[in-house]
Amino acid sequence: MKIRYFDHSATTAVDDRVLEAMIPYFSENYGNPSSVYGIGKDNKEVINICRMKIASMLNCKVNEIYFTSCGSESDNLILKGIAFANKNKGNHIITTKIEHPAILDTCKFLEKFGYRITYLTPKSNGIIDVNELEKNITKNTILISVMYANNEIGTIQPIREIGEIAKKYGIFFHTDAVQAIGNIKINVREENIGAISLSAHKFYGPKGMGVAYINENIPFWRMQDGGHQERNKRAGTENVPGIVGLTKAMEIAEENLIEYNRKLKTLRDFYISEIRKRVPYIRINGDLENRLSGNANICFNGVDGSKLLAELDQKGICASSGSACSAGLITPSHVLLAIGVPNKIASSSLRVSFGKENTLEDTEFLIESIEEIVMKLRN
Ligand code: PLP
Repeated sequence: MKIRYFDHSATTAVDDRVLEAMIPYFSENYGNPSSVYGIGKDNKEVINICRMKIASMLNCKVNEIYFTSCGSESDNLILKGIAFANKNKGNHIITTKIEHPAILDTCKFLEKFGYRITYLTPKSNGIIDVNELEKNITKNTILISVMYANNEIGTIQPIREIGEIAKKYGIFFHTDAVQAIGNIKINVREENIGAISLSAHKFYGPKGMGVAYINENIPFWRMQDGGHQERNKRAGTENVPGIVGLTKAMEIAEENLIEYNRKLKTLRDFYISEIRKRVPYIRINGDLENRLSGNANICFNGVDGSKLLAELDQKGICASSGSACSAGLITPSHVLLAIGVPNKIASSSLRVSFGKENTLEDTEFLIESIEEIVMKLRN
Protein backbone atom coordinates (compact mmCIF):
# COMPACT_ATOMS: atom_id res chain seq x y z
CA MET A 1 0.00 0.00 0.00
CA LYS A 2 1.27 3.46 -0.86
CA ILE A 3 1.94 5.59 2.21
CA ARG A 4 0.78 9.18 1.93
CA TYR A 5 2.37 11.22 4.69
CA PHE A 6 0.58 14.35 5.92
CA ASP A 7 2.13 14.67 9.37
CA HIS A 8 5.17 16.87 8.83
CA SER A 9 4.56 18.73 12.09
CA ALA A 10 5.22 15.43 13.88
CA THR A 11 8.43 14.68 12.01
CA THR A 12 9.95 14.64 8.53
CA ALA A 13 12.07 12.20 6.54
CA VAL A 14 15.77 13.05 6.46
CA ASP A 15 16.64 14.77 3.16
CA ASP A 16 19.02 12.69 0.98
CA ARG A 17 21.54 15.54 0.90
CA VAL A 18 21.45 15.71 4.70
CA LEU A 19 22.01 11.98 5.03
CA GLU A 20 24.89 12.13 2.56
CA ALA A 21 26.54 14.92 4.55
CA MET A 22 26.15 12.96 7.81
CA ILE A 23 27.36 9.50 6.74
CA PRO A 24 31.14 10.08 6.88
CA TYR A 25 30.84 11.20 10.51
CA PHE A 26 29.50 7.83 11.69
CA SER A 27 32.40 5.64 10.67
CA GLU A 28 35.16 7.51 8.79
CA ASN A 29 35.46 10.76 10.72
CA TYR A 30 34.58 9.37 14.12
CA GLY A 31 37.07 11.25 16.31
CA ASN A 32 35.92 12.67 19.64
CA PRO A 33 35.96 16.46 19.26
CA SER A 34 37.55 16.77 22.72
CA SER A 35 40.55 14.61 21.77
CA VAL A 36 43.93 16.23 21.16
CA TYR A 37 44.90 14.27 18.03
CA GLY A 38 44.07 15.10 14.42
CA ILE A 39 40.80 13.19 13.83
CA GLY A 40 39.37 14.64 17.06
CA LYS A 41 40.52 18.18 16.37
CA ASP A 42 39.15 17.97 12.81
CA ASN A 43 35.70 17.22 14.22
CA LYS A 44 35.97 20.11 16.65
CA GLU A 45 36.60 22.31 13.63
CA VAL A 46 33.58 20.78 11.84
CA ILE A 47 31.42 21.68 14.85
CA ASN A 48 32.81 25.23 14.89
CA ILE A 49 31.94 25.68 11.23
CA CYS A 50 28.40 24.38 11.81
CA ARG A 51 28.00 26.72 14.78
CA MET A 52 29.12 29.66 12.62
CA LYS A 53 26.67 28.76 9.86
CA ILE A 54 23.73 28.47 12.27
CA ALA A 55 24.67 31.71 14.03
CA SER A 56 24.80 33.46 10.69
CA MET A 57 21.36 32.10 9.67
CA LEU A 58 19.78 33.23 12.96
CA ASN A 59 21.82 36.48 13.08
CA CYS A 60 23.39 35.88 16.47
CA LYS A 61 26.92 35.35 17.77
CA VAL A 62 28.70 32.02 17.42
CA ASN A 63 29.09 31.68 21.19
CA GLU A 64 25.31 31.95 21.61
CA ILE A 65 24.57 28.61 19.92
CA TYR A 66 24.36 25.43 22.04
CA PHE A 67 23.81 22.00 20.51
CA THR A 68 21.29 19.82 22.36
CA SER A 69 19.54 16.50 21.77
CA CYS A 70 16.08 17.83 20.80
CA GLY A 71 13.57 20.65 21.04
CA SER A 72 12.35 19.42 24.42
CA GLU A 73 15.86 19.55 25.85
CA SER A 74 16.36 23.08 24.54
CA ASP A 75 13.06 24.17 26.14
CA ASN A 76 14.08 22.60 29.47
CA LEU A 77 17.59 24.03 29.37
CA ILE A 78 16.37 27.52 28.57
CA LEU A 79 13.43 27.76 30.97
CA LYS A 80 15.03 26.05 33.97
CA GLY A 81 18.48 27.47 33.25
CA ILE A 82 17.24 31.06 33.04
CA ALA A 83 14.75 30.74 35.92
CA PHE A 84 17.30 29.30 38.36
CA ALA A 85 20.08 31.69 37.41
CA ASN A 86 17.88 34.77 37.75
CA LYS A 87 15.87 33.99 40.87
CA ASN A 88 17.41 36.98 42.63
CA LYS A 89 15.72 39.24 40.04
CA GLY A 90 12.23 37.75 40.35
CA ASN A 91 10.15 34.61 40.22
CA HIS A 92 7.48 35.39 37.64
CA ILE A 93 7.29 33.86 34.16
CA ILE A 94 4.71 34.58 31.46
CA THR A 95 3.81 31.90 28.93
CA THR A 96 0.68 30.73 27.08
CA LYS A 97 -1.87 27.96 27.44
CA ILE A 98 -1.10 26.65 23.95
CA GLU A 99 2.60 25.83 24.39
CA HIS A 100 4.01 22.38 23.73
CA PRO A 101 4.18 20.11 26.83
CA ALA A 102 7.97 20.63 26.84
CA ILE A 103 7.20 24.18 28.00
CA LEU A 104 4.00 23.59 29.99
CA ASP A 105 5.42 20.70 32.01
CA THR A 106 8.67 22.58 32.62
CA CYS A 107 6.60 25.48 33.94
CA LYS A 108 4.71 23.09 36.23
CA PHE A 109 8.09 21.84 37.48
CA LEU A 110 9.23 25.41 38.16
CA GLU A 111 6.02 26.12 40.11
CA LYS A 112 7.18 23.50 42.61
CA PHE A 113 10.30 25.62 43.16
CA GLY A 114 8.38 28.78 43.98
CA TYR A 115 8.03 30.31 40.52
CA ARG A 116 4.72 31.95 39.63
CA ILE A 117 3.61 31.27 36.08
CA THR A 118 1.01 33.25 34.13
CA TYR A 119 -0.55 31.16 31.33
CA LEU A 120 -2.08 33.55 28.79
CA THR A 121 -5.29 32.49 27.04
CA PRO A 122 -5.09 33.17 23.30
CA LYS A 123 -7.90 34.83 21.37
CA SER A 124 -10.31 32.46 19.59
CA ASN A 125 -8.11 32.66 16.47
CA GLY A 126 -5.20 31.17 18.43
CA ILE A 127 -3.17 34.38 18.62
CA ILE A 128 -1.96 35.97 21.85
CA ASP A 129 -3.18 39.47 22.72
CA VAL A 130 0.01 41.49 23.25
CA ASN A 131 -1.81 44.08 25.40
CA GLU A 132 -2.91 41.29 27.70
CA LEU A 133 0.67 40.08 27.85
CA GLU A 134 1.94 43.57 28.74
CA LYS A 135 -0.73 43.97 31.45
CA ASN A 136 0.53 40.82 33.15
CA ILE A 137 4.11 42.05 33.52
CA THR A 138 5.11 42.76 37.12
CA LYS A 139 8.36 43.89 38.71
CA ASN A 140 9.06 40.20 39.39
CA THR A 141 8.73 39.08 35.77
CA ILE A 142 12.02 37.61 34.59
CA LEU A 143 11.03 35.65 31.50
CA ILE A 144 8.44 35.60 28.71
CA SER A 145 8.17 32.34 26.77
CA VAL A 146 5.78 32.39 23.80
CA MET A 147 6.02 29.86 20.99
CA TYR A 148 6.72 31.15 17.47
CA ALA A 149 4.21 28.88 15.72
CA ASN A 150 1.80 26.41 17.23
CA ASN A 151 2.30 22.71 16.54
CA GLU A 152 -1.42 21.88 16.39
CA ILE A 153 -3.21 24.81 14.79
CA GLY A 154 -0.17 26.40 13.10
CA THR A 155 -0.89 29.94 14.29
CA ILE A 156 2.05 32.33 14.22
CA GLN A 157 2.43 34.65 17.22
CA PRO A 158 3.29 38.37 17.01
CA ILE A 159 6.91 37.65 17.94
CA ARG A 160 8.32 41.05 16.91
CA GLU A 161 5.78 42.90 19.08
CA ILE A 162 6.41 40.59 22.03
CA GLY A 163 10.15 41.16 21.53
CA GLU A 164 9.58 44.94 21.68
CA ILE A 165 7.61 44.62 24.93
CA ALA A 166 10.27 42.37 26.48
CA LYS A 167 12.95 44.88 25.50
CA LYS A 168 10.94 47.82 26.91
CA TYR A 169 10.69 46.14 30.34
CA GLY A 170 14.14 44.49 30.29
CA ILE A 171 12.68 40.96 30.47
CA PHE A 172 14.28 37.92 28.80
CA PHE A 173 12.26 36.62 25.87
CA HIS A 174 12.33 32.98 24.76
CA THR A 175 10.44 31.52 21.82
CA ASP A 176 9.98 27.84 21.08
CA ALA A 177 10.56 27.95 17.33
CA VAL A 178 10.51 24.18 16.77
CA GLN A 179 7.60 24.42 14.31
CA ALA A 180 8.66 27.72 12.78
CA ILE A 181 12.21 27.10 11.66
CA GLY A 182 12.36 25.78 8.14
CA ASN A 183 9.08 27.58 7.41
CA ILE A 184 9.85 31.12 8.56
CA LYS A 185 13.04 33.18 8.38
CA ILE A 186 14.03 34.09 11.93
CA ASN A 187 16.34 36.97 12.80
CA VAL A 188 16.89 36.99 16.55
CA ARG A 189 18.53 40.43 16.75
CA GLU A 190 15.86 42.18 14.69
CA GLU A 191 13.06 40.42 16.55
CA ASN A 192 14.59 41.02 20.03
CA ILE A 193 14.57 37.32 20.81
CA GLY A 194 16.81 36.34 23.72
CA ALA A 195 16.53 32.57 23.44
CA ILE A 196 15.23 30.03 20.93
CA SER A 197 14.61 26.27 20.83
CA LEU A 198 14.99 24.36 17.55
CA SER A 199 14.73 20.70 16.54
CA ALA A 200 16.27 19.21 13.38
CA HIS A 201 13.70 16.47 12.70
CA LYS A 202 10.99 19.03 11.91
CA PHE A 203 12.87 20.34 8.87
CA TYR A 204 14.19 17.19 7.16
CA GLY A 205 17.12 16.79 9.54
CA PRO A 206 17.92 13.91 11.92
CA LYS A 207 15.98 13.05 15.06
CA GLY A 208 17.79 13.53 18.36
CA MET A 209 19.37 16.86 17.42
CA GLY A 210 18.39 20.30 18.68
CA VAL A 211 19.73 23.81 19.15
CA ALA A 212 19.34 26.34 21.92
CA TYR A 213 20.28 29.90 21.05
CA ILE A 214 20.78 31.91 24.25
CA ASN A 215 21.87 35.55 24.10
CA GLU A 216 25.28 36.01 25.71
CA ASN A 217 23.88 38.58 28.17
CA ILE A 218 21.38 36.14 29.68
CA PRO A 219 22.70 34.30 32.73
CA PHE A 220 21.65 30.65 32.76
CA TRP A 221 22.53 27.48 34.66
CA ARG A 222 23.91 24.41 33.02
CA MET A 223 21.40 21.58 33.25
CA GLN A 224 23.76 18.68 32.65
CA ASP A 225 26.92 18.16 34.69
CA GLY A 226 30.02 16.35 33.51
CA GLY A 227 32.42 17.31 30.73
CA HIS A 228 33.25 20.78 29.47
CA GLN A 229 31.49 20.60 26.12
CA GLU A 230 29.40 23.52 24.82
CA ARG A 231 31.52 26.02 26.71
CA ASN A 232 30.83 24.30 30.01
CA LYS A 233 27.06 24.64 29.64
CA ARG A 234 26.06 21.20 28.42
CA ALA A 235 28.14 18.15 29.23
CA GLY A 236 28.23 15.24 26.80
CA THR A 237 30.25 14.18 23.76
CA GLU A 238 28.93 16.08 20.78
CA ASN A 239 26.70 14.32 18.22
CA VAL A 240 28.91 15.20 15.25
CA PRO A 241 26.79 13.51 12.53
CA GLY A 242 23.69 15.12 14.06
CA ILE A 243 25.27 18.57 14.14
CA VAL A 244 26.39 18.23 10.51
CA GLY A 245 22.90 16.99 9.53
CA LEU A 246 21.05 19.74 11.39
CA THR A 247 23.23 22.42 9.79
CA LYS A 248 22.80 21.01 6.29
CA ALA A 249 19.02 20.72 6.77
CA MET A 250 18.82 24.32 7.96
CA GLU A 251 20.86 25.54 4.98
CA ILE A 252 18.61 23.67 2.53
CA ALA A 253 15.50 25.01 4.26
CA GLU A 254 16.82 28.56 4.10
CA GLU A 255 17.67 28.31 0.39
CA ASN A 256 14.22 26.96 -0.50
CA LEU A 257 12.06 28.92 1.92
CA ILE A 258 9.98 30.89 -0.60
CA GLU A 259 9.39 28.03 -3.00
CA TYR A 260 8.66 25.61 -0.13
CA ASN A 261 6.07 27.91 1.42
CA ARG A 262 4.44 28.52 -1.95
CA LYS A 263 4.08 24.80 -2.57
CA LEU A 264 2.72 23.99 0.88
CA LYS A 265 0.26 26.89 0.83
CA THR A 266 -1.11 25.83 -2.57
CA LEU A 267 -1.78 22.28 -1.36
CA ARG A 268 -3.11 23.41 2.02
CA ASP A 269 -5.48 26.02 0.52
CA PHE A 270 -6.73 23.50 -2.05
CA TYR A 271 -7.36 20.99 0.75
CA ILE A 272 -9.27 23.49 2.91
CA SER A 273 -11.39 24.81 0.06
CA GLU A 274 -12.33 21.31 -1.16
CA ILE A 275 -13.15 20.08 2.35
CA ARG A 276 -15.29 23.18 2.85
CA LYS A 277 -17.20 22.43 -0.36
CA ARG A 278 -17.58 18.71 0.17
CA VAL A 279 -17.98 18.12 3.91
CA PRO A 280 -20.64 19.96 5.92
CA TYR A 281 -20.45 20.81 9.65
CA ILE A 282 -16.78 21.48 9.98
CA ARG A 283 -14.79 24.06 11.93
CA ILE A 284 -11.39 25.32 10.80
CA ASN A 285 -9.20 26.02 13.80
CA GLY A 286 -6.75 28.90 14.05
CA ASP A 287 -6.29 32.16 12.18
CA LEU A 288 -6.40 31.65 8.43
CA GLU A 289 -3.77 34.29 7.63
CA ASN A 290 -1.19 34.09 10.42
CA ARG A 291 -0.51 30.40 10.23
CA LEU A 292 2.13 28.01 8.93
CA SER A 293 1.72 27.43 5.17
CA GLY A 294 1.45 23.67 5.54
CA ASN A 295 -0.96 23.43 8.47
CA ALA A 296 -4.70 22.74 8.41
CA ASN A 297 -6.57 21.80 11.58
CA ILE A 298 -10.23 20.97 11.09
CA CYS A 299 -12.94 19.63 13.41
CA PHE A 300 -15.46 17.30 11.79
CA ASN A 301 -18.49 17.61 14.06
CA GLY A 302 -19.94 14.34 15.23
CA VAL A 303 -16.85 12.33 14.32
CA ASP A 304 -14.47 10.68 16.75
CA GLY A 305 -11.03 11.98 15.73
CA SER A 306 -9.25 8.78 16.76
CA LYS A 307 -11.59 6.68 14.58
CA LEU A 308 -11.03 9.04 11.68
CA LEU A 309 -7.27 8.63 12.08
CA ALA A 310 -7.53 4.85 12.27
CA GLU A 311 -9.63 4.72 9.07
CA LEU A 312 -7.20 7.02 7.27
CA ASP A 313 -4.37 4.76 8.39
CA GLN A 314 -6.17 1.83 6.71
CA LYS A 315 -5.83 3.76 3.46
CA GLY A 316 -2.13 4.50 4.05
CA ILE A 317 -2.72 8.11 5.09
CA CYS A 318 -0.72 9.45 8.03
CA ALA A 319 -2.20 12.48 9.80
CA SER A 320 -2.71 13.48 13.39
CA SER A 321 -5.23 14.60 15.98
CA GLY A 322 -4.37 16.82 18.89
CA SER A 323 -5.83 14.36 21.35
CA ALA A 324 -3.58 12.78 23.91
CA CYS A 325 -4.06 9.30 25.27
CA SER A 326 -3.02 8.85 28.86
CA ALA A 327 -4.04 5.97 31.13
CA GLY A 328 -6.46 4.76 28.48
CA LEU A 329 -8.38 8.05 28.45
CA ILE A 330 -8.51 10.20 25.34
CA THR A 331 -8.30 13.84 26.32
CA PRO A 332 -9.00 16.56 23.75
CA SER A 333 -6.25 18.92 22.72
CA HIS A 334 -5.35 21.56 25.34
CA VAL A 335 -4.76 23.96 22.44
CA LEU A 336 -8.28 23.60 21.02
CA LEU A 337 -9.80 23.90 24.50
CA ALA A 338 -7.72 27.06 25.12
CA ILE A 339 -9.12 28.72 21.98
CA GLY A 340 -12.66 27.95 23.15
CA VAL A 341 -13.53 24.85 21.10
CA PRO A 342 -16.08 22.84 23.12
CA ASN A 343 -14.83 19.54 24.52
CA LYS A 344 -16.94 17.33 22.25
CA ILE A 345 -16.05 19.17 19.06
CA ALA A 346 -12.36 19.28 20.02
CA SER A 347 -12.27 15.47 19.99
CA SER A 348 -13.23 15.51 16.30
CA SER A 349 -10.13 17.37 15.12
CA LEU A 350 -7.74 16.34 12.39
CA ARG A 351 -4.37 18.02 11.83
CA VAL A 352 -2.97 17.74 8.34
CA SER A 353 0.54 19.10 7.87
CA PHE A 354 1.91 19.19 4.33
CA GLY A 355 5.53 18.72 3.32
CA LYS A 356 7.82 18.72 0.34
CA GLU A 357 7.03 15.22 -0.99
CA ASN A 358 3.23 15.78 -1.09
CA THR A 359 1.56 16.10 -4.49
CA LEU A 360 -1.77 17.37 -5.74
CA GLU A 361 -2.82 13.77 -6.51
CA ASP A 362 -2.03 12.70 -2.95
CA THR A 363 -4.00 15.65 -1.65
CA GLU A 364 -6.99 14.73 -3.84
CA PHE A 365 -6.82 11.19 -2.44
CA LEU A 366 -6.71 12.64 1.08
CA ILE A 367 -9.78 14.80 0.44
CA GLU A 368 -11.77 11.96 -1.11
CA SER A 369 -10.82 9.65 1.76
CA ILE A 370 -11.83 12.16 4.42
CA GLU A 371 -15.14 12.84 2.70
CA GLU A 372 -15.92 9.12 2.50
CA ILE A 373 -14.84 8.28 6.06
CA VAL A 374 -16.54 11.27 7.68
CA MET A 375 -19.84 10.41 5.97
CA LYS A 376 -19.47 6.76 7.04
CA LEU A 377 -18.66 7.62 10.67
CA ARG A 378 -21.49 10.15 10.86
CA ASN A 379 -23.94 7.53 9.64
N1 PLP B 1 8.07 22.37 20.79
C1 PLP B 1 7.17 22.25 19.80
C2 PLP B 1 6.36 23.44 19.41
C3 PLP B 1 7.01 21.04 19.13
O1 PLP B 1 6.12 20.92 18.16
C4 PLP B 1 7.82 19.94 19.54
C5 PLP B 1 7.63 18.62 18.90
O2 PLP B 1 6.61 18.31 18.33
C6 PLP B 1 8.74 20.13 20.57
C7 PLP B 1 8.84 21.35 21.16
C8 PLP B 1 9.63 19.00 21.01
O3 PLP B 1 10.62 18.76 20.06
P1 PLP B 1 11.44 17.37 20.09
O4 PLP B 1 10.56 16.35 19.50
O5 PLP B 1 12.65 17.62 19.25
O6 PLP B 1 11.78 17.12 21.50
